[in-house]
Amino acid sequence: MKSTTEQDTGLPLDMVIFGGMGDLAMRKLLPALYSAFLHGNLPASTRIISTGRQEFNREAYLAHVSEHSRTFIPKDNFDDKTWDGFLHLLEYVRLDVQQAPDFGALAAASRPGAQRVYYLSTAPSLFTTICEKLAAAGLVDEHSRVVLEKPLGHDLASAIEINEAVGKHFAESQIYRIDHYLGKETVQNLMVLRFGNSILEPLWRAPNISSVQITVAEEVGVGSRAGFYDGTGAMRDMVQNHLLQLLCIVAMEPPTSLSPDAVRDEKLKVLRSLRRPTLADIARDTVRGQYVQGVSGNQEVPGYHEEKNVPEDSKTETFVALRTFIDTWRWSKVPFYLRTGKRMARRSSKIVIEFANPPFPLFPDMPGGVANRLVMELQPEEAIKLQIMAKQPGSGMQMQQVALNLDLQSAFQQRRAEAYERLLVDVVRGRLTHFMRRDELEAAWEWADPIIAGWQTLNEKPHPYAAGSWGPAEAFTLLARDGFHWVE
Ligand code: NAP
Repeated sequence: MKSTTEQDTGLPLDMVIFGGMGDLAMRKLLPALYSAFLHGNLPASTRIISTGRQEFNREAYLAHVSEHSRTFIPKDNFDDKTWDGFLHLLEYVRLDVQQAPDFGALAAASRPGAQRVYYLSTAPSLFTTICEKLAAAGLVDEHSRVVLEKPLGHDLASAIEINEAVGKHFAESQIYRIDHYLGKETVQNLMVLRFGNSILEPLWRAPNISSVQITVAEEVGVGSRAGFYDGTGAMRDMVQNHLLQLLCIVAMEPPTSLSPDAVRDEKLKVLRSLRRPTLADIARDTVRGQYVQGVSGNQEVPGYHEEKNVPEDSKTETFVALRTFIDTWRWSKVPFYLRTGKRMARRSSKIVIEFANPPFPLFPDMPGGVANRLVMELQPEEAIKLQIMAKQPGSGMQMQQVALNLDLQSAFQQRRAEAYERLLVDVVRGRLTHFMRRDELEAAWEWADPIIAGWQTLNEKPHPYAAGSWGPAEAFTLLARDGFHWVE
């Protein structure tokens, strides 16, 4: 089956959200859909059908959305009249996904012949039953699309199980596995920076690049997600998906075109080229951490063990730092350092490309450290900076590092859509490029699973780190022994 877009078919669009009362729907999906509507990026025919088990009539649901979702829309992107128009698009259908007859209510609410996009914003354990029951109710056809939220499995076996189950009813071209990092402007810009310019690409390899760092630091703790998080940990929650996807965009070869498969083929090659570590490599090149009591945002905060629903003896990692290699010509011997954690000093996601220093130290006063770095900041603000050496004004040849700042905010004085909005619009338009293909997802698990198994064999406690810090000391040693340091 080939997926088609509304522009191709002229079909009305029914966007169905499973988990329409949930946290993700309220905080991200509905505000993103509102914003897409405000900026004219939803077809005029759109209807949004939220589903959940609670008994609500339409008015009560709209009131709930106005109370719980509206607050997540930035003030400068809000307009009362448009909000009223947006609410007109919304319906609510009470539906327990375990009950086949409830899907009759959804069939009744959905317009015959509409293009249906199903957003599965529920626990992944419900994905199989949702897809089966949608198909049994005659609600899946060649125009349907399904969006799958993370976590897509707990390991390779469970990811295969989900993929098989969804794949029985939806062709791969109808499946949108979302990773919101791929919707970030800066991440998409990285592809343009690399492949739309000729000055960077010749340098984009060993030995010109000496290391790559990718950090996704969260300031928040596990909060109300502790029950889920304790069975998951940072490797499954963040590294296997978000950090590996970022690594793929940094490391991929130029695709032959921008078609979804051409791009995803290249990302897949990266994942398959990631070095498989031995147990000794895992012990040496990975650091697991767990936060203890500390100060975050000027407030005393509890350690992971004191969080509600965390077992006293939990060994779940809330922090991971690791060194890995991509065994290809381009990246031979270039270390890739990945780091993520909760309760870190501040929310900050960035990619740092560290270039090799000039081969000959011509200037005696050259400061120590790295001459050139390309720093791509993804969170909290998006920015791209190239750190270069410049001569300080005055006599002599004193040098100083300065940043060549790619000021995209000034260059493009236009709104930058939030990642979920951009990705939802991609789904509506049938653009798969920034979504994960099945083989990519499974290749990521193939790499992550043995590391997690290695940790179980080693059976070590995670290293403690104070909440509000940049992680355990061992994470700094990991880079220091190669002559690098984390760029904060
Ligand atoms: P949540 O607040 O617990 O919402 C889950 C929703 O699933 C609830 O609204 C619940 O609706 C619905 N549900 C549960 N059992 C159901 C059933 N038998 N029939 C129909 N509906 C059922 O979870 P969430 O935070 O929104 O997350 C949703 C998914 O997205 C999860 O897989 C999560 O891991 C993932 N995710 C969340 C975030 C985030 O920021 N929240 C970020 C990334 C990924 P009722 O109780 O009303 O039936």
